[in-house]
This record gives sequence, C-alpha cells and structure tokens, in this order.
Amino acid sequence: MYCPFCSAEDTRVLDSRLVSDGNQVRRRRECVTCNERFTTYESAELVMPRVIKSDGSRELFNESKLRSGFQRALEKRPVSIDQIENALGQIKQLLRGLGEREVTSRLIGEAVMDKLQHLDEVAYVRFASVYRSFQDLSEFQAELNRLTNKDGGVSKS
Ligand SMILES: [Zn+2]
Repeated sequence: MYCPFCSAEDTRVLDSRLVSDGNQVRRRRECVTCNERFTTYESAELVMPRVIKSDGSRELFNESKLRSGFQRALEKRPVSIDQIENALGQIKQLLRGLGEREVTSRLIGEAVMDKLQHLDEVAYVRFASVYRSFQDLSEFQAELNRLTNKDGGVSKS
C-alpha cells in the first residue's frame, strides 16, 4: 500500500505478527522514501453479504433462519445435525466466496435446494416443487411453516 504520509509506493515491512488469535496479521511498516513508520492490520473479510428479497428490500443474512429451514425440510429424514451444519457451512462459504456485498434470496434458495438434493432425495423432491413456485426463500419458508403446522406433518403431494 501507499505510504499514508508521502504517498510513496514502496514501503518496507519491519515486523509481521499474528494478533487476535491468529485472525489478523499486524504489520509494522516503514516508508522507503520518507522513513515514516505506520502499522497495518490485515484480516480476511468474513462479513456475510446482505440478502436482496424478491420485493427489492434488503435484510441481514440470517443463519438461524436458514438452519431452521433445513431442519424443517429434513424433519423425520435420516440426516444428521452434523450433515446439516456442514451444508450450512458450505453455503456460507459459497456466499462469502462470491465477494458480493449483496446477494439475492433466490440465489440462497437455489443453494439450499442444491444441498438438499445431495443430503436427501426425498426431502429435495418434496420441497423443490414447492420452492420453485415461490419468489424467494422467505415466501418458501412461510409455506413450509403452513405445511408443517398443519396436522404436524409435511404432506405436500
Ligand atoms: Zn512516505
């Protein structure tokens, strides 16, 4: 990076160390031109993108909402919590990997469908047809709620 004092391009790293449990690198730098010293902190960008809903409104990425969606979809299916957590982790990694500040809820919904397909074919088939007729994940979840609240079981035929 440029020197913040004289804007020279070349700076020299004097010292580099891990801080905050290894999640950050602290670098002590010296400008080759003006010899001023300064410190930089480097860390991975782990902020989840915001979600653009089908009506154009934005909301924060909600992991617990996503988790409960999975759990509801896989209710009474032979899929472990570990497998669900794993799928959640992969979706989060995917979303972060996009490097976008905002993603559509549709994209998240498609990612969920993709994971369901690999986790449990029955749950996938059962819910893909329902999901695809909705605009986004929140509408889909509202429908899931409706279905699961009705006589305690999911019976979409
Ligand atoms: Zn300088």
